[in-house]
Amino acid sequence: KNHLLVQHWRKDFPILHTSLYGKPLVYFDNAATTQKPSIVIEAESYYYRHTNANVHRGIHTLSQQATEAFEAARSKLQRFINARHPHEVIFVHGTTEAINLVAQSYGRCRFKTGDEIIISAMEHHSNIVPWQMLCQQTGAILRIVPVNDAGELDINAYQNLFNPNTKLVAITHVSNTLGTINPVKSIIHYAHTQHVPVLLDGAQAIAHIAVDVQDLDCDFYAFSGHKLYGPTGIGVLYGKADLLEDMPPYQGGGDMISSVSFSATTYNKLPYKFEAGTPNIAGVVGLGAAVDYLSAIGMDTIIKHEQSLLNYATELIVNIPDIRMIGSATEKTGIISWVLAGMHPHDIGTFLDRQAIAVRTGHHCTMPLMERFGVPATVRASFALYNTKNEVDKLVNAIYQARELFK
Ligand code: PMP
Repeated sequence: KNHLLVQHWRKDFPILHTSLYGKPLVYFDNAATTQKPSIVIEAESYYYRHTNANVHRGIHTLSQQATEAFEAARSKLQRFINARHPHEVIFVHGTTEAINLVAQSYGRCRFKTGDEIIISAMEHHSNIVPWQMLCQQTGAILRIVPVNDAGELDINAYQNLFNPNTKLVAITHVSNTLGTINPVKSIIHYAHTQHVPVLLDGAQAIAHIAVDVQDLDCDFYAFSGHKLYGPTGIGVLYGKADLLEDMPPYQGGGDMISSVSFSATTYNKLPYKFEAGTPNIAGVVGLGAAVDYLSAIGMDTIIKHEQSLLNYATELIVNIPDIRMIGSATEKTGIISWVLAGMHPHDIGTFLDRQAIAVRTGHHCTMPLMERFGVPATVRASFALYNTKNEVDKLVNAIYQARELFK
């Protein structure tokens, strides 16, 4: 039954029907970005053909229609993550901008010398560098939660990092390199007992876990549309309304003001205070369509399928001779990272590419995590709703062939 469902979903993604080197594309680089269903491509195209106008300003009909489409998408995203209010959904470029927004708007005016920010050893560079920049500006320091051999956070060590100087926790929900699902609910609960707010980097979770920000009780949640079957250049920062209300704007410009004069400017209300300038309107509309698509299928159905693919692939890949899996957490999304003795990951990636199998090789923007495991790079296969066991078989066969060739 699952098999039939997936064949049905695959029809929704035009790019899956292309070939490379005479072979059908096998796309296993979903952690970098997912492919887009026709409904998303058509929503953007329809918007540009029929509704294009600037939002929030025009009295004319087209502008009002564009504004309606834009704000309707905000409500769809609110429902998708179960935020309390639509104005807790701030549209940004992506996860990276969301984290920079919190660092600069929340952190910069609050943090001072000696304050501490807790992150982890498995963070993507975009949940490290914005905090390092903030530390340089304010004199705050980073404290790092260590990762064990299985690729899981050391929760005892996490709790021991807290002290009266701790001001913020910023942790990834799911590791983009290992697939580890972190126990974020208990991480957040503990931080709140210490009166410390928590930002979750949801870039790798949002398309693979049913995210409920009220249930998690996170203070901020950041994600990118392009990893959620939506367009590039659009993402979301969720924040609790009372926190966002207290934060100064991140960027100044049009739309984010309520009045401007040379003596005094007052700022617009949420969410517009954080949306300076003309937004990525078509991107927002496309992201709304992506969320409709996923809601129609149901996250539970997607999770079941991806977990069965993960189990199937893990069993086959673990048994390949000379392979070293990086990370073996008990709670994982569909991401597998490995190295093969005697072969550089880039050589494996190139070999697989010639078989039309797209995987990612490199440090995956997690250089400190590579250092933790003593490898410069890994090969990473990451699954999405449209991947099949047959594609996994092709990947595994190709790894065996690569082994023979490079022996
Ligand atoms: N965090 C994680 C865990 C990621 O996987 C990524 C994307 N690889 C990002 C942050 C950054 O996302 P973006 O480049 O879309 O801003």
